Amino acid sequence: MKRATCSGCSLLCDDILLKSDGLYIDEVIGACLKGKERFDQITSKNRLLNPLIRENGILVKAKYEKALESAANIIKSSSNPLFYGFSTVSCEAQLKGIELARFINGFIDSNSIICQGEVLSTAKQTGITLTTISEVINKADLLIFWGANVAESIPRLLNKALFSRGKFRMTGREIKTLVLIDPIKTASFGVMGVRDIALKIEPGKDIDLIRVLKEECCNTNNIPSEGVAGLDEDDLRRLLIQLSGAENGVIFIGQGLLRSQAEANVIREFLELVQEINVKQQKGRLSIILVGGHYNMLGFNHVALSTCGVSNSLQFSNHQLVETSETIITKIEKEDFDCSIIVGTDPISHFPQYLSKKFMKKPLILIDNKRSATSYVADIVLPTVITGIESKGLAYRLDSVPIELKKIISPPNNLPSDEELLDKLLLNLCTDK
Ligand code: SF4
Repeated sequence: MKRATCSGCSLLCDDILLKSDGLYIDEVIGACLKGKERFDQITSKNRLLNPLIRENGILVKAKYEKALESAANIIKSSSNPLFYGFSTVSCEAQLKGIELARFINGFIDSNSIICQGEVLSTAKQTGITLTTISEVINKADLLIFWGANVAESIPRLLNKALFSRGKFRMTGREIKTLVLIDPIKTASFGVMGVRDIALKIEPGKDIDLIRVLKEECCNTNNIPSEGVAGLDEDDLRRLLIQLSGAENGVIFIGQGLLRSQAEANVIREFLELVQEINVKQQKGRLSIILVGGHYNMLGFNHVALSTCGVSNSLQFSNHQLVETSETIITKIEKEDFDCSIIVGTDPISHFPQYLSKKFMKKPLILIDNKRSATSYVADIVLPTVITGIESKGLAYRLDSVPIELKKIISPPNNLPSDEELLDKLLLNLCTDK
């Protein structure tokens, strides 16, 4: 049995046991269903094993070199290319993607722009108190999940963070209070105990709750009697007591809060609230963990921040980063691109139809390991290995801890890794200049 890390989600569980002969994986022990599915992907029916080129409207199999050449030709004749995805590839591949975007003066964005991307850029002005999963396991006495249904998105997180006994505590679950804030009763509500607090907030009213908490910060005497955002006075009092009294509280924030009211500055006000509580807190502190779904969504933010100083939405001109207020969404809305290179994601399924239609109007190159709605509309499909199983690479866990993913088996058809493929593409473009 070998120990391995699962790249099924951003928790990157490193306690998985595998039985493998180097060609196949025979047994997986310790992974959740989502993790098992990740390991099963190597032999799944929707695996992409051959490059495809669109000829006369139909995708046909092609030799790798020919498909690569065709992709390079599309990029060479483009003056406004768009790169998108990069959340399910290694940090090494993310770095290559940014290098490539810089070389051809393109725009590059990751999936995190529609998830947690805004938090890190906002944190530059407000500050942010982060923590790690180990700290949560060992020390947390309050766990708040705000707009995050982790029972389904990060299946083993509750096991590790809530049902564990920390090194520095005599007790475990019994001293940990769970607070769930969500407009719908998600699967995560199924683990509530008697001391826990379920807060069913009205949809789109998160900002109202944040503002009341900021006003009444650590003060339970002035709570509005009419309540706020669908929560009554008692709910608010219990929440404030927990926020201001926890020794070591952590708030996991998910898509539900991150995208709750695009027009209001929810993230800024939320970060300010946490900072204010921490200033007033006498005996403890509150920290934040961002709950991203894809296993290396946070990696792109770290790679972009460390190489370019911004965490998302990078526009290059004359091989230099230039300031921009554009995101992948506004670029597509304005049709401000002439070809797209999609890496490890499926925007045709994820984006609203009006955006997908605009995407499909321009040449589309897909780099991925599985079939998707995007692979069916792409002009060139370049298959790659599954990182963390068929190639190694670095990824950032949801608490920003870098985890080294190992190669477990050899890839089929000598497929390249995402990093190798992007490097080949870059070399091809460089030699032509
Ligand atoms: S929780 Fe995530 S990383 Fe852990 S085993 Fe499940 S899918 Fe894999």
